[in-house]
Amino acid sequence: MTLTIPFDNSYARLPAQLFTALPPTPVAAPRLIEFNEALAEELGLDVDVKDEDRIASIFSGNDIPEGATPIAQAYAGHQFGNWNPQLGDGRAILLGEVTTPRGRFDIQLKGSGPTPYSRMGDGRAGLGPVLREYVMSEAMHALGVPTTRALAAVLTGERVQRETAQPGAVFTRVAASHIRVGTFQFFAVRDDREALEALARHVMARHYPDAKSVTQLLEAVMERQARLIAKWMSIGFIHGVMNTDNMSVSGETIDYGPCAFMDVYHPETVFSSIDQFGRYAYANQPQIAVWNVAQFATALLPLMDDQEAAVAEFTEIVHRFPEIYQAEWLRLFGEKLGLPGLEERGLVEDLLTLMAKDGADFTNTFRALPGDAARDQFLDREAFDAWAARWRALGPDEALMARVNPVVIPRLHRIEAAIRAGSAGDMEVFRSLLKIVTQPYEETEENAPYRRPPAEEERVTRTFC
Ligand code: AMP
Ligand code: MG
Ligand code: MG
Repeated sequence: MTLTIPFDNSYARLPAQLFTALPPTPVAAPRLIEFNEALAEELGLDVDVKDEDRIASIFSGNDIPEGATPIAQAYAGHQFGNWNPQLGDGRAILLGEVTTPRGRFDIQLKGSGPTPYSRMGDGRAGLGPVLREYVMSEAMHALGVPTTRALAAVLTGERVQRETAQPGAVFTRVAASHIRVGTFQFFAVRDDREALEALARHVMARHYPDAKSVTQLLEAVMERQARLIAKWMSIGFIHGVMNTDNMSVSGETIDYGPCAFMDVYHPETVFSSIDQFGRYAYANQPQIAVWNVAQFATALLPLMDDQEAAVAEFTEIVHRFPEIYQAEWLRLFGEKLGLPGLEERGLVEDLLTLMAKDGADFTNTFRALPGDAARDQFLDREAFDAWAARWRALGPDEALMARVNPVVIPRLHRIEAAIRAGSAGDMEVFRSLLKIVTQPYEETEENAPYRRPPAEEERVTRTFC
């Protein structure tokens, strides 16, 4: 035995209608791409990292480790605002959970074969999305954003057909849980009080032990979501598919699809090829999160005795989102300017307006502010100088700025290059990128090329997932 996982599978002990028990579908020829040893250790996995075949075999779904109770979770969701009563894990299998000093974590395979929730899908994942999720989620973690983590990526030895044919892969994801707003919605619309109650109790015990009622649960979820979105905004992250089935009730970033970091700052930036109307554009993310929290509130209503009173109370809670979001936004952007405790938005907004007008690079502008280089990001130098004079007069803390403004982010053109190379059999581009973006605050010789925004011919404007 070279890999033991100390499973304790609380979700699989919940009422049966919450999931379907089934094993992953074996793949032809599993081959390990990457394994996150540090995370494995944090999770208490007893693993011989030299035994790559065994690791590949487990994290492709070919070999079910002892103690696993493989299940696909049921959920519903609003996709681009349209209600879909039946989604669920169509290509994911939850192997089980482990408990650690930092809490309970799900270990889930993604791309592990069809389930009763697959609808028309093949249950598989392509190498491109797997490498993207691996790099993006680990970079987000390194940037201090609550997120699911990457434990393993394995080639399946099979091909999947998407826009083009590509190598198949399985991604192993670690999350505080995979419970979504859509999980609650699934049972609320079916009027399944038993499941809804069990789910709410489970989520309160697991994620919000201080919440003593359903109302307090809603409040806590709303607050965590407001803080999460503020954090996304502060690093120029665009999720791309903020459907209610892609919003975790634990407050982690989940379901990295056609997501990306902005290079040039513009509030209307959209990358996702399927987001035709820009519903999930950068600047819309806070409003969308409010809308999603309102759907969560709606799904909790059946648990309340006095519906009329609950509607009033829940509405009031949802309406408090903007206040919490704004305060967190100001705190984070204040720190980015080296001005902790900044009390008004004007200074930040004025900078962002100039950045949008002149096409300044989001990451590099904030990082360069203490020196002279930030000026180069602007066409209207006089306007920038005037802004910088106002800012400098407030005595910014440059050491703080260096701690919160990253040097490198996983720029989209770099991710695409890693995917291209990986699809041609070369994983070194992916590995180098992963190493660079998981150490985001240090300026090194090695990361210098990764700080450069895309040249005109390198620019990627659309993501497909
Ligand atoms: P996503 O857009 O990845 O958040 O997925 C939305 C829904 O489609 C979820 O229920 C997924 O499980 C399902 N899905 C996505 N891709 C596939 C696939 N290749 N096979 C089966 N189901 C899928
Ligand atoms: Mg069942
Ligand atoms: Mg999803």
